[in-house]
Amino acid sequence: MADATDYSAHAFHASLPKGRASGTLRLYEHGLVFTTGGVPAQTVTLPLQGLELKLGGASNRLIFCTHPAVPGWQLYTADHALLGAPVLAAHPARAALGSAKRRHHALAWGAIFGGLAAMVLAGLLVWWSLDALSATAARRLPVEWEEKLGKSVVAQYKLGKDFMEDKEAKALLDPLTAPLAKALPEQKYTLRFHVVNDPTLNAFALPGGYVVIHSGLILKAKHAGELQGVLGHEIAHVTEQHGMRAVIRTSGLYILAQALIGDASGLMAVLADAGPLLMQQKYSRDFERAADAVGYDLLKRASIDPRGMADFFRAVLAEEKRMMEKVEDENARRAMDAARAFLGTHPETPERIATLEKKLKKEPATGWRDDQAAFLALQARVQRFVTENATEKAPAGKPDTTDKKEPGAQP
Ligand SMILES: [Zn+2]
Repeated sequence: MADATDYSAHAFHASLPKGRASGTLRLYEHGLVFTTGGVPAQTVTLPLQGLELKLGGASNRLIFCTHPAVPGWQLYTADHALLGAPVLAAHPARAALGSAKRRHHALAWGAIFGGLAAMVLAGLLVWWSLDALSATAARRLPVEWEEKLGKSVVAQYKLGKDFMEDKEAKALLDPLTAPLAKALPEQKYTLRFHVVNDPTLNAFALPGGYVVIHSGLILKAKHAGELQGVLGHEIAHVTEQHGMRAVIRTSGLYILAQALIGDASGLMAVLADAGPLLMQQKYSRDFERAADAVGYDLLKRASIDPRGMADFFRAVLAEEKRMMEKVEDENARRAMDAARAFLGTHPETPERIATLEKKLKKEPATGWRDDQAAFLALQARVQRFVTENATEKAPAGKPDTTDKKEPGAQP
């Protein structure tokens, strides 16, 4: 049964004119449907199962709705009646909003009674040991496990998406990526690069050596070094096992301790179930910083000018600013600012650029590889691939943006 109420709402997505649209939200049993106000109307459906809700803006005035399987789409409404809709009554995301508030109160009382310092200390200790133990466990896992996990996530992700034929993508990317692969201190992983038709400025890595590059990133990059800079960063996520460590970390102390003393059965179960988690992975600030640093060194060892990495981050920053300027409502702007993760971008981009620039001052201006010819060949082919995909789909009438599947990962 549908809830017949229309909630006034807004959406952000790269496919919308100027990246945003106003419209209405309506709840159905199968999902939350956003319909744009324009003609022709565009719709997107966030399935109820797995729907994520978050409060943001001044006094948590806005409700943000996202779904890991419909990435890039950010819906938000100021209409709190949405949360009272019967369809959402038993929804875990709805319940989580409630319990988040309750937890907040519990913590406030804890502070009043003075137990907070001890709680924080204990929390930090568990946090620290989980990170350290996860890293140890990840290093001990057979590479085949990582490959198997990465392969299955890529296979899930490919469903319903347009990928460039793998062999062709490999042939085009090889001249740009082989120097990086060769420069790795350890030949533990086979790197596999894929190109997906997606206009956003993004790429992401999965365990075992899988790297997915959005066509938008290749098309918007201004030179080979920008693309190679991102790839250096993504390869570092692989070699530093950031995906594995994040997954293992979720298994908890008990399973981790078991794995470390030789019984990995619990951990295997966690890994078997890790696909959805990896698909919506957002790495911690520490992991991003580490990937920048490790990627930077890798670029240098491959004789690739690391300036390209900084150039790419500047492009990301410009894109972020462009998105923010589209948000007219001041409260919404603040909410978006606070919740940059929703835009699939990095809140700490300026800080990362500053760190890179400091290091770049010491780098020589010349003596780097020149892979520009290979890059231009790749770019031309990707442009054709994107155009062919668009013309194949055009006769279908209005754009169908429902049920798009892709991870919300970020470079
Ligand atoms: Zn990253």
